[in-house]
Order: sequence, then C-alpha cells, then structure tokens
Amino acid sequence: MESHHGVGIGRKLAIGKILVMAPPLPEPLDTPLEGSATDAKEKLKKAVAQVSDDLKHRLDKAHGEAKAVLEAQVLMAEDPTIFDAAAQKIDGGVNPGKAVFDTLADFQVQYASLGEYFAARVADLADISQRIRAAVTGVEVPGIPESDEPFILLAHDLAPADTATLDPSKVLALVTREGGPTSHTAILARSFGIPALVGVHDLDTSDALSGKTAIVDPISGDIRIDPSAEEIAAAEAKLAEQIKAASGPKTPGALADGTKVLLLANVGSGADVPGAQEAAAEGVGLFRTEFLFLSSKNAPSVEKQKEEYKKVLAGFPGQKVTVRLLDAGADKPLDFLNPDKEENPALGLRGYRALAANPQILRDQLTALKQAEEETEAEVWVMAPMISDLAESIEFVKVAKEIGHTQVGIMAEVPSLALIADKIAPHVDFFSIGTNDLTQYTFAADRLLGSVANFQDAWHPAVLKLIKSLGDAGGANSISVGVCGEAASDPIMAVVLVGLGCFSLSMSANAIADVRSELKKYDLETAKKAATAALDADSAVTARDAAMKVLGY
Ligand code: PEP
Ligand code: MG
Repeated sequence: MESHHGVGIGRKLAIGKILVMAPPLPEPLDTPLEGSATDAKEKLKKAVAQVSDDLKHRLDKAHGEAKAVLEAQVLMAEDPTIFDAAAQKIDGGVNPGKAVFDTLADFQVQYASLGEYFAARVADLADISQRIRAAVTGVEVPGIPESDEPFILLAHDLAPADTATLDPSKVLALVTREGGPTSHTAILARSFGIPALVGVHDLDTSDALSGKTAIVDPISGDIRIDPSAEEIAAAEAKLAEQIKAASGPKTPGALADGTKVLLLANVGSGADVPGAQEAAAEGVGLFRTEFLFLSSKNAPSVEKQKEEYKKVLAGFPGQKVTVRLLDAGADKPLDFLNPDKEENPALGLRGYRALAANPQILRDQLTALKQAEEETEAEVWVMAPMISDLAESIEFVKVAKEIGHTQVGIMAEVPSLALIADKIAPHVDFFSIGTNDLTQYTFAADRLLGSVANFQDAWHPAVLKLIKSLGDAGGANSISVGVCGEAASDPIMAVVLVGLGCFSLSMSANAIADVRSELKKYDLETAKKAATAALDADSAVTARDAAMKVLGY
C-alpha cells in the first residue's frame, strides 16, 4: 500500500475510486502562423466567445464564493485588452495558441506584481489561458472528469473554474499536489464541505492512479492508495461514526460538562445567511464586509451600506452579528481605501490603519451599521481588523461608542497585540482572534503562497501561546474571546481553543456540525489539558499529536 501526506481540510474520511484530472496543456511551440492573420484573429474571437459562454454556463450553477471567482474569470476572458494584445502578436506572425499563451503570461507577471489580491488571481489567468488555447486548437479543456459514480479527485492543482462547479455529491474528496490551507482549492473545499488534502508534494498525478481505491483522511493528512480489505472496513466504520455524530441534534454549542461555547458562522454577504441558519449557527462571529465592495471604485454611501448589512442582520433576530469593519489591503484591496501600490501590502496601510487614514469612511461605516441595527432585530457587535497596539484600540473604541455602538471589540491578528493583550483587554468589549493573519505574521510567511504554506499552521505552539495570552487577558477582564480564523473550523483545534480560553468559535457554516459534536465529548478540564499538552510541544505536528493523545485519539 502506498501512502502520501499533505495538509488536511475538513474532517470526514473519504473512501472510493480515484479519478485523475487531465494535466494542463503544454507550453505551445513557436511555429509560424499558418493562413491569414485575419482568419486566425477570427478563430481567436470565436474561442474567446466559447470560453466566456462556457464560464457563464458554469456561473449559472455556481454559488457564493465560487460564483465570485467565476464572475471575475468571465471579466478576464472578455477583457478587450487581452484580446487586442494577442491579436497584435498574430499580426506579427505568431500562431494563435502561442499568441494567447504569451499574452496571458505577460498579464500574469503584471498581476503578480500588483499585490496579494491580484497575485492570487494569477491562477485564474493561467486557467483562462488554458481554456482559450484549448478552444483555439480544438483540444479538450483539461478539467474535472465525468463519472456516474462518486470519486476521489486527484489533480496537480485545481483551477477555480473547476472547483467552482464541482458537484459535491459526486466528489468524495479533493487531493492536490499544490496549494496550501488558504489556497483556492482549500477555501472552496471548505465552503462545499468536501474533505481535501492539499500540498501532497510527492503525489503522482499522471493517469496511473486512476481507478485505484484510496482512503483520504483529512485529520491525519494522509491518502492511502490500494488499502487492504481490513483497512477499508475500519475506515467505513469510522466514517459511519463521523456521519452519525455530525447528524446529531443541532443544539447550542457546549462541552460535556455544560460549559457554553458559542458556535457562530462566518459570512460575506446575505447569500451566506441560509447556510448559517441551516447549520443552526448561534449568530455571526465574522461578517467580512469588504467582500461586498471589492469591485467598488468609490466608497459606498451610508444608505447603500445599510441596505447590504440589513440583508445579513435580518437573518439573525435576537442573535449577535459581529461585523468586521472594512479590512482593506493585501489580499483584499479596496480602491477607495488603499489605492497606493506598496512593496509589502500585508505589512502596509491595511485593515484599521487604512480606516484611520480615512476617518470619514470609518465613521460612515459605523453609522450605516448603527442604522441597520436599528432597523432589524439583530444585536450588532463591531470590530476593527488588524489592530496592532493600545492607542489604535482606544481610538477605535472611542469613535464606535460615539456613534452609538455598545459592543466594540478588536480583531487580534497581529502578534504585537496578543503580546500585550493584558494591557488592551480593559479597554475593549471583546477580542476576536483571526488565526489566519496571526499565523502569517507570527511566521512572517505569506498566507497566500504555496511555497511557504507549511508555516501556515495555527497548531504551532508559537501561535497557541499568543492565543493563550489573549484568552488569559480576556478571562481576567471578563470580556468575550473568540476565534474567527480557519483554525476554529478544525474540530480538534476547537477543543484546544476552548482550553486556551476562547469560548466563542466562528467558522464557515459547513464546519459547525463537526465542531459541535467534537466539543460535546469533553469537559473543560480535559480541554485545558489538551491545550497545555499542545503548548508544551515544539512544533505544529507534535502539538497536534499531543492534544490528540489527551483527547483519546
Ligand atoms: C483571519 O485573519 O484569521 C481572519 C479571520 O480574517 P481574514 O481571513 O478575513 O483576513
Ligand atoms: Mg485577517
């Protein structure tokens, strides 16, 4: 039996047959243009139209985050500057396949230099390049294989357009060589609730594995190929247990001894509300408001903002909705908040820093949120992103309270803040820990880069210590401490987070059932022991192992 290791996303085991996705098209040869340039440009025009139609067709079937990715891709495919640049190359005697390849390669270089949000779109451009070239040359577009039976999909990496239209009832698990825990594949797998392994670097993605049986275990991060009949039977029994546990009653979050742990949803717009309600989320722990305005050139009016916010607030009468003020910059740039190009945008004028530099935008958002709260029955908690010291904390709380907000907190995602959490806690109403950024900044490792993805692991004791500092400070000052980064959606980590003093966990709606059922198994004493064991470890791997041992795994 062959076994490989990667970063696991989700929890459920997958057992089934492997299908390998066709590899990307090779780089085209620089053969001279055959026929007239006019004919070649006509062919290119038809290919672009075909690709854009195909993407639009997929768009009709897509939802949420997947839809946004596809919308961006349609715009890219139809971008006249891309067509014109390729046409110019054809006029210069280059064959259409090569013209498309070179043009999109140029665009990829430009995007990569424009900051993290655009850098993350490079994969989308590479995918467009493949699709147009396939259409121009009349070969099949590399993509998800068709199958009547559910399957485990193996791929070098998944293009957003592929993951966007995955049929979750057909795909048992995604396994890719590339990607990290914050890659497109990982994010979309989470939003679909499909288990995944990413960054399985030694995986053979040639067709050789197609048709073989495999067991994918996202908890251990392993894929086992050609397992024995006994292993399959054991995995099936474990999967049945997992399904039973996750389909239990949707009770409020609590440990076995009754200790309450709020289970909240992360949302980006009104479209995420039904999923959160279906999962019986007890409110919203992170409403990422910047997602609503990523394509706006100008700051949205108070009225427009209010209407958008009400779409989310209306879904949670009598419950809290924690709204994160615009977190502009780095991976989520907003033209109206941080228009300047920065060398290191993740270390630049982002999050609260950008808001503080644009006080009217800050005030308008707080005003729109107050008005939206008054017109709905939700309880609005507001928080600022990327706060890094006491002065910023005090300043933000002052402005938000002046505008009438009563629950004003800060996101803890910069180590400087966590290190002096005891000094800051008396001045705020709550901490919400953003483990994605907290991990990125602790390790100085870009959360979007596959090459340093191995650092993006909140299990590392260096990160856990910072979380403990926040949990302790929150406990000593009787303020709520929650986690709204991806770490909260890992059920074992969720137990450890509670042991570190975080009694509110916010995650994508799909993760709630598994976290709920895991928390129910332990009392607070055990959660604290698991946390201590993880803190005492010397790496992310040993921390997780130590916690799992305490929890009886
Ligand atoms: C985080 O950093 O963990 C977080 C929740 O915020 P975002 O992922 O939106 O930066
Ligand atoms: Mg963040």
